Amino acid sequence: MDSIKEILQSKKLKASSARLLLLKKLSEPQGHYSAEDLFQSLKDTLPGLSLATVYKNLEDLRSAGILRMVALPDQVRQYEWERGDHLHLVEGKLLTDLEDSDLFEEIKNLIAQKIGSGFEIENIDVQVFGRKKPNQVIYQQLKSKHI
Ligand SMILES: [Zn+2]
Repeated sequence: MDSIKEILQSKKLKASSARLLLLKKLSEPQGHYSAEDLFQSLKDTLPGLSLATVYKNLEDLRSAGILRMVALPDQVRQYEWERGDHLHLVEGKLLTDLEDSDLFEEIKNLIAQKIGSGFEIENIDVQVFGRKKPNQVIYQQLKSKHI
């Protein structure tokens, strides 16, 4: 967990047990979790942890640019490591990361062509909704190792 501590230190955040455990859990493959998911998975490891503490820490980590929040229609917010532009394949509650830097460049170019340089893009959020076809292996390009 040394590198997680270093990340927190670089953002001037205290390496509390709650933050260390939250970031460790979010480092797992398919690391998109709601506050409730995280609370349920960590409450036995860290007695005294409350859902409110989880929410507060997730918000602190998001404000510091360590985490990103994914808000989908009609779903609870999920959190993941902030690791730049990528799109999500959304099947119900499950998010699968898909990286394609060419796509994001094309989107940026398209916007520049349509409206000129008067709009500064800070972040592109693309969610593609659908369902996995039966007996198909879904393409996954996961970066499970964030640290
Ligand atoms: Zn993601």
